[in-house]
Amino acid sequence: MAESLPPIVVYNTLTRSKVPFEPLHDRQVSMFVCGITPQDQTHLGHAKTYVTFDVVARYLRARGYSVFYLQNVTDIEDRIIDKMRETGRDWRDIVRQYYGEYQEGMQALNCTSVDVYAYATDHIPEIVAQIQGLVDKGFAYVTETGVYYDTTKFSGWGKLSGQKIEELKPGARVAVDETKRNPADFALWKAQKPGEPAWDSPWGKGRPGWHIEDTAITISRFGPQYDLHGGATELMFPHHEAEVAQAEAYTGVTPFVRYWMHGGMLMIQGEEMHKSLGNFWAIKDALGRWDPMVLRFFFLNAHYRSPIDFSPEAIEEAGRSYERLREATRNLEAALRAPPETGPGDAALEMATTRVRAAFEAAMSDDFNSREAIAAIFEYARELNRALQAGAGRAALSGARDAFDRFAQVLGLFRGGGGGAGLDARQIDAMIRTREDARRRKDFATADRIRAELAERGIVLEDTRSGVRWKRR
Ligand SMILES: [Zn+2]
Repeated sequence: MAESLPPIVVYNTLTRSKVPFEPLHDRQVSMFVCGITPQDQTHLGHAKTYVTFDVVARYLRARGYSVFYLQNVTDIEDRIIDKMRETGRDWRDIVRQYYGEYQEGMQALNCTSVDVYAYATDHIPEIVAQIQGLVDKGFAYVTETGVYYDTTKFSGWGKLSGQKIEELKPGARVAVDETKRNPADFALWKAQKPGEPAWDSPWGKGRPGWHIEDTAITISRFGPQYDLHGGATELMFPHHEAEVAQAEAYTGVTPFVRYWMHGGMLMIQGEEMHKSLGNFWAIKDALGRWDPMVLRFFFLNAHYRSPIDFSPEAIEEAGRSYERLREATRNLEAALRAPPETGPGDAALEMATTRVRAAFEAAMSDDFNSREAIAAIFEYARELNRALQAGAGRAALSGARDAFDRFAQVLGLFRGGGGGAGLDARQIDAMIRTREDARRRKDFATADRIRAELAERGIVLEDTRSGVRWKRR
């Protein structure tokens, strides 16, 4: 079947066009998505982003690619320090709490495809080395408040987002600092202020800037170039632009990322979601009110690049639609319990199954168009119900179940869904390293989760005196 599947095309923000998806190394895909800053409740906008890229990873795996999906955890950043000051709590407690809640939300939403969650504070040596490299090459300069990237030195500045330096107004996420040479310059290293957590560096005690955390993590795991970077559109500027500027200036390799994918925003009744507007929906609250599979279906029943408008009514509408599909799968399961060998509905059902499988692959390989894929499944559900009424036999019904298994595997809807492909030694070692980092931090929940994930994929860990060893079961 593999040969007959359509080639995958991806909308690449860098070229603003759909292009064939060709990873650097044959069937291996290195994929990174910006993770959370655990300092507050994760909200539905995050949920939309992570469901989107969960499906991207699932589909690539379902097409036979070995995907290594890396997500960072911004466990030190201005907003965590703000929270620390507001609450008087230790920053590590804040991170542990909100990261834990985030993971619960992801599990409920069946976002299971991330291989490694990498913490920024586990990569301080890599961060320092990268900043030093940028200073040495003349792309960064030191002031009494920290180290800054000189955006006028990088000729590619603006190529991802299309923004020009002159258009940049110092805004919420680019701090005003009178020691900077240019308003657009951003901090790579921030000198410690009283009471702040800090690490040693050649420029004194301090902490990393937000953007350098991600390139330190990706370059140390993937090297100077990798395949796919995902994130929400809001992060394109300045965050992703800064990542490009740092990485390409540091390594000299262009492009740093081959495919940039950006997901559209989640709007609340036409407005951006903000705590200050009183329209903030935490994942936790939404999960307390609706079936997580319905939320997942709601996100996937739109194109990932389009903004979607959230409202309780829209979720309830999505719930009714999703229930129609569930009903079809329940009818199918009931028919499969004691099926006749053949039935009058067989020919029509077999034809419909062939058609939906082709339509599903065509939609998913066209820039992961889950909306079109779901539309094809709806049409199929009607045909399936007709065939069930006419009476269908074992082979035709099994074919229908196989089709739904494929939909579940890729979309993460219906019955759990699988999709984990074999891990290679490099990926296993990376996961073990992350687990050891977590244990050192006494984050045993994460350590246990990684052990469980590896176990699920047939990898057994042995903690020995000389370190962790692994073997395939
Ligand atoms: Zn990021």
